[in-house]
Amino acid sequence: MAKTFEYNATVVSTLMLTDYLMVMSVRPDATMGGFVPGQYATIGLTGDAPRAQLSKPDKQPVDPAQLIRRPYSISSNATSDEIEFYLALVEDGALTPRLFALQTGDRMYMAPKIVGKFTLEEVADHKNLILLSTGTGLAPYMSMLRTGVDWSKNRKIIVAHGVRHEEDLGYREELEALEKAQSNFFYLPVLSRQSSSWKGKTGYIQNVLFEKETLDQIGLSLSPEKDEVFICGNPSMIQAAIETLQSKGFAVIKGRNPGQIHIEEYW
Ligand SMILES: Cc1cc2nc3c(=O)[nH]c(=O)nc-3n(C[C@H](O)[C@H](O)[C@H](O)COP(=O)(O)OP(=O)(O)OC[C@H]3O[C@@H](n4cnc5c(N)ncnc54)[C@H](O)[C@@H]3O)c2cc1C
Repeated sequence: MAKTFEYNATVVSTLMLTDYLMVMSVRPDATMGGFVPGQYATIGLTGDAPRAQLSKPDKQPVDPAQLIRRPYSISSNATSDEIEFYLALVEDGALTPRLFALQTGDRMYMAPKIVGKFTLEEVADHKNLILLSTGTGLAPYMSMLRTGVDWSKNRKIIVAHGVRHEEDLGYREELEALEKAQSNFFYLPVLSRQSSSWKGKTGYIQNVLFEKETLDQIGLSLSPEKDEVFICGNPSMIQAAIETLQSKGFAVIKGRNPGQIHIEEYW
């Protein structure tokens, strides 16, 4: 059967943050139609692409000619020609072990259309933005912040990032620098595992973010009229956060149903 795709993008750089976390930049051959911060691209490799050393074998046999494709949020500035991704290795996954074996100059597939509704487009610009994530769920917020938010508005922007270990705090320096530069920006990194060297908060990100002490420190009252909440990453964290927010009068945006909670589930 004829191939229905061609590799159409080149890896420009890979940066390993840990053995399991990578920032990868890709340059598509053709100019993309642009994207809105928060959207995702579908990328892929064929089954014959090698798997990274650290990974486990494929769970099921993979056709060497078949394109394995998955969606990934974009973390780069929407005006950049290069598209950046923040990737977690799923050891026995089909695609990520192959992505983690890529080197600068390698070729890959990227779907020409970038899509997704997890964006700031419909959010009134006076509302506080609570950007909650676990792991690589931070990616869409990096694109939003890098592309530009109107800081002149009297609104607060909070990035709450939950990870297991301190070394998993990708983009930490950039977010800490932003916090120093913008008095209305708050960066809340939270570890779910205890660590003697960690001076920050520990626990489940959604519990820490919504506890009274944290809300008082940021100066948030948690109200659907004033706050808009984005939640991205691990589905159980998303579910737990939704339950807390619903008890405060927030509603999830679904289809045409209005609300103040935007969700992007990674699996
Ligand atoms: C809209 C959207 C955007 C996404 N953006 C990103 C992103 O920016 N970065 C990213 O790393 N992933 C992202 N994902 C997840 C990604 O699409 C893949 O599901 C993931 O990379 C696993 O692919 P795989 O083929 O290696 O594993 P598969 O063989 O497809 O195995 C899937 C299993 O891997 C686990 N898993 C999936 N994603 C993760 C993860 N991020 N961390 C830990 N375990 C996971 C789950 O248990 C899931 O059931 C996104 C998913 C969606 C729907």
